[in-house]
Amino acid sequence: MRLWIVLALLAGSAAATTRHAMGHRHTILIPLLLVPALVLGWQEWTFRGDEDDFSVIASEIAGRDVRIECQRFSGALLDATAEAGYVQFNADGTPTDTGRLERDACRDLRSYLHGDQSNPTIEHVVAIQVLAHESFHLSGISNESETECAAIQRIDDVAVDLGATATQGRAVAERYYAEVYPRMPAAYRNDECRQKGELDASPDDAQWP
Ligand SMILES: [Zn+2]
Repeated sequence: MRLWIVLALLAGSAAATTRHAMGHRHTILIPLLLVPALVLGWQEWTFRGDEDDFSVIASEIAGRDVRIECQRFSGALLDATAEAGYVQFNADGTPTDTGRLERDACRDLRSYLHGDQSNPTIEHVVAIQVLAHESFHLSGISNESETECAAIQRIDDVAVDLGATATQGRAVAERYYAEVYPRMPAAYRNDECRQKGELDASPDDAQWP
């Protein structure tokens, strides 16, 4: 949608420039079309660039080439679900190749990526976890509590991939586990998601999550 508006504005300003060169005065019309075209074009460029960054992180976790797509404004209007992210699974139980992030989660993730990562809001922390969570769905895990627990143990790495230092990444993980995880719906929690529990991916180290 945004891309089509950009192209239409560029086409309009090209036509106006041509007519201007032929002697019709379009001194105001040209910048009126060109400036929004450049602003919207820049927004579209950074939006897609951020999706590319998120896709690289998700592919690393999934162990295969996957794509993360951010919900567009038009999609947000139609979206009736409360899910912050979504991966569709095929009938044979394998995941599709695309994870979708809901508009707010994506906005928070982009804000974290472009911020300084030193003082994240709880919304930033949740959005980082959503990316990690959908990435583990893309790796093939469908069970929600197992996916959530695997993601909790990688959220620090995801934060680092988004620009955090190792210390900042650890703080994100500890904050999610302490402040958000206990409030998640029962389907997302598991008693074995703890230090040396069955879902501890590295039971031999002292680090949790
Ligand atoms: Zn899930």
